[in-house]
Amino acid sequence: MKNFVCKRCGSCCHSPRLYKKDIERIKNLGYKEEDFIYRDNLNNTYTKDKKGWCIFLERGKKAKCKIYTARPRICRQYPSQLLNKSCKPEELAFDRYLENKNLL
Ligand code: SF4
Repeated sequence: MKNFVCKRCGSCCHSPRLYKKDIERIKNLGYKEEDFIYRDNLNNTYTKDKKGWCIFLERGKKAKCKIYTARPRICRQYPSQLLNKSCKPEELAFDRYLENKNLL
């Protein structure tokens, strides 16, 4: 998103959906599928979770993505829109709800 500056809080790093090209990029870094892929009962793929966070997230004062150059498409596109200057996932959903209800 234009003009968005990530503060590296890590709030948005909750096991993103993985698409075929994402999986290939991550495998090209040397990871094996069984090390990082979680499949739901519909066979949708996500990064595995580590205590509620994406397995590739290194938490700390400044969060760090271990696979930043090969991060999934959804991570590259996030946030797709910011209506109230917050990039926290729960607030984006709230914005979208308000927008759909024409309350913004
Ligand atoms: S792949 Fe990287 S940027 Fe995407 S959720 Fe995981 S830690 Fe965050």
